Amino acid sequence: MNASSQSLSHQVVVVGGGTAGTTVAASLLRQRPELDVAVVEPSEVHYYQPAFTLVGGGTYDMDSTRRAQKETLPETATWIHAGVASFEPNSNLITLEDGRQVQYEHLVVAPGIKLDWDRVDGLREALGSNGVCSNYSPETAPYTWECLRQFRGGNAIFTQPPPPLKCAGAPQKIAYLAADHLRRNNLAPESNLQFYSGAGALFSVPDFVPHLQKVMDRYGIGVNLGHDLVAVDAERKVARFATTDSNGERTEIEQPYDLLHVTPHQTAPDFVKQSPLANADGWVDVDKGTTQHTRYPNVFSLGDASSLPTSKTAAAVRKQAPVTVRNLLARMDGQALSAQYDGYTSCPLVTAYGKVMLAEFMYDGVVTPTLPLSPFSESRFYWVVKKHLLPPFYWNQMLRGKEPDIAHKPLKS
Ligand SMILES: Cc1cc2nc3c(=O)[nH]c(=O)nc-3n(C[C@H](O)[C@H](O)[C@H](O)COP(=O)(O)OP(=O)(O)OC[C@H]3O[C@@H](n4cnc5c(N)ncnc54)[C@H](O)[C@@H]3O)c2cc1C
Repeated sequence: MNASSQSLSHQVVVVGGGTAGTTVAASLLRQRPELDVAVVEPSEVHYYQPAFTLVGGGTYDMDSTRRAQKETLPETATWIHAGVASFEPNSNLITLEDGRQVQYEHLVVAPGIKLDWDRVDGLREALGSNGVCSNYSPETAPYTWECLRQFRGGNAIFTQPPPPLKCAGAPQKIAYLAADHLRRNNLAPESNLQFYSGAGALFSVPDFVPHLQKVMDRYGIGVNLGHDLVAVDAERKVARFATTDSNGERTEIEQPYDLLHVTPHQTAPDFVKQSPLANADGWVDVDKGTTQHTRYPNVFSLGDASSLPTSKTAAAVRKQAPVTVRNLLARMDGQALSAQYDGYTSCPLVTAYGKVMLAEFMYDGVVTPTLPLSPFSESRFYWVVKKHLLPPFYWNQMLRGKEPDIAHKPLKS
């Protein structure tokens, strides 16, 4: 039988073996070992992406961020080593890029977000040399540290696209690490640091904005909101930004750089956007409480590719996955879906080497700390959590489908 005529069928098919897909598959199999679960995942490698910021800051080893997919996927799941090309939810069928088709009873869609490097003219060619770097890919994160180490003063620019993006704090975290690095090496007086964001605010949750602005001010980083990177001219070492003036007129400005850290524009993956599963913005259209698809009840989605209206992080997946699993199992058993996701997400805002402000919040931007510590202070303890405790928790607990219920409490009701 050749690959394209081979037909496959599973009780539960999970699309994507990243943070969300692996966690859900592992948790399903932990609770129901007899389930027939397949994970469709094209990549040989699983990355712990939250550590990319630390790799770019020269304080984490790139090798420690990756593990072989065959070690991270649950042993008893079937790994379909391929990419999904399209969904036919009316026939409970997906088609793989190699032409094979996979039938399912239940589907979990978690293929992450697309990094759209081509949205910025000249970026793909410029990236990885002459001071143009990005923590957003495993191929380029180590080069960020090389750029920082080699920087001897001049213009350092850090960009953030307009939303959506995964870990919306990451573009500013590297600006803080860079500023702290320059301060420690007495290069700060020689340096002009600028943060350019396509968003209208420094952070999506207003309560954190004044505290983060203080950090920017402390380092003397200029904050330029509403500025969207549109082009990189590597030859002239100039970044071009589009902005809209007070009369609503779009203008473009050019800024010379010696170091340019780019966060790419991000969208839903094309094969999701073009599928019947997508909402108008291209995300898998799910109920914000149950994570069940709004039109196809045997389909669930979580993580970056889902329409869940919260900040896209692995921390959010940690709280989404148990809800998805409980509701999926309830549906299989013919019971009502009772588990509800409250929008919890978290962003450890690294503000210096050794300091983290842990932003935890849920739907409607309600701040909701897990521990009785001020969410607005820069904490040594949370740095230890981010750098030393969360990675083993991720690999050994979360990806194994173990669900310690760590409660969080809203600051305001
Ligand atoms: C620089 C950076 C810093 C971050 N910092 C933090 C942080 O501090 N805290 C935090 O909580 N989160 C952080 N994140 C975000 C976090 O990593 C993501 O939100 C999380 O991994 C999302 O999980 P996911 O499963 O939806 O997507 P992913 O983990 O990206 O997994 C998607 C999977 O789908 C697979 N896939 C792609 N296309 C297909 C296809 N066609 N068919 C089948 N499978 C496919 C991919 O290969 C991948 O394995 C950071 C991310 C980055 C890049």
